[in-house]
Amino acid sequence: MKFPVLKHNLPAMSWQQREHFLLAPYAMFSVQSQGREHPEESHSYRSPFQRDRDRVLHSAAFRRLSGKMQVFTGDMGDYHRTRLTHTNEVSSLARTIGRAVQLNEDLIEALALLHDVGHPPFGHCGEDALNECTQHLGGFSHNRFALELVTLVEQRYTSYSGLNLTREVLAGQEFRSDKDSGFAPMLEMQVVDAADSMAYDAHDVDDALKLGLLSWKQLEGLALVQRAKKVAPLDQCGQGNRRQMLVHALLDVQMENFLSSAFETLADIRQLDSQSVQELGIRLEMSAEFQSDKEELEEFLFDQVYRHPKLAEIRQRAATRIHQLFRLLKAYPERLPERFQLWATHWGVERAVATYIAGMTDRFCDDQYVNMVELGRSQAADWS
Ligand code: MG
Repeated sequence: MKFPVLKHNLPAMSWQQREHFLLAPYAMFSVQSQGREHPEESHSYRSPFQRDRDRVLHSAAFRRLSGKMQVFTGDMGDYHRTRLTHTNEVSSLARTIGRAVQLNEDLIEALALLHDVGHPPFGHCGEDALNECTQHLGGFSHNRFALELVTLVEQRYTSYSGLNLTREVLAGQEFRSDKDSGFAPMLEMQVVDAADSMAYDAHDVDDALKLGLLSWKQLEGLALVQRAKKVAPLDQCGQGNRRQMLVHALLDVQMENFLSSAFETLADIRQLDSQSVQELGIRLEMSAEFQSDKEELEEFLFDQVYRHPKLAEIRQRAATRIHQLFRLLKAYPERLPERFQLWATHWGVERAVATYIAGMTDRFCDDQYVNMVELGRSQAADWS
């Protein structure tokens, strides 16, 4: 493809030239990619990582994130984050970091959009329930399931299963599945992880305040909130604005600390390439003192929000529903959709059932529970 010159002082660039021009040596360049399991011709105007981003964006698993809860369920209101809006916030924050430190933004975006697609219905509670159901198969993890979705479950091409993503995107997600491996991931993946943590620490405070699960008084003693107060005049504005100002300030202070530390680390390695950076185990991290303030906030959120009685009730109901749906489908696999019945013959019934349930949105899971379990209870007395 021939690129026309559209702006007089900036020559038109191919994606290869654009990366060469904009990225730092330590970034993962598309031309360094190890390719895909099923080789493909390179695209004329999209880099391999842009194609990965688009494949994730157009996947069924990604669309279903709109119907999956982050922390709070859909019937609690319409202000708080869903798994999809959380993912969009992570992607935006991660790209901001990536641009500032000259990493590969396209790879970052692909990794960010992918990072939570493996979540089953009802968030971590659904994950715990599925993990219990599948203990003798090795258990269930949303990070591992994301890999299964994009390598096996998604059907986009006639000659093979999965999305045929690049090895770099798969390796990034593999790191999320096994963070104790001792290996440092690509800097692009580290940036996505940092953005994930920044996003949920800030937006869970925002959502919990809006839902009345937290009070300002409870938050005031937290070191991270004190840091936020230094950059935003929280005491001088009304209740509604104060909450929004707090969430912006929480993001600002986290971003500022991460970038300051990252600039220092990257200054020492600016001539190294991506592979050398990984071999040396280079990590981009917030300062130790700041990280400890984040941990204080996270422990507070765990005790006061994630374990809040209102959520405990929802968690219990979701866990019961997933357990019962799992038992029913295991006993009556003919009630699985055709594609999953076929997989049951290859993978075993339990794995096919877990895969089916893990892909559901919260509402679809509720509907299936009502249709199959509650309405079918009389016919299926022997499984419950
Ligand atoms: Mg996340």
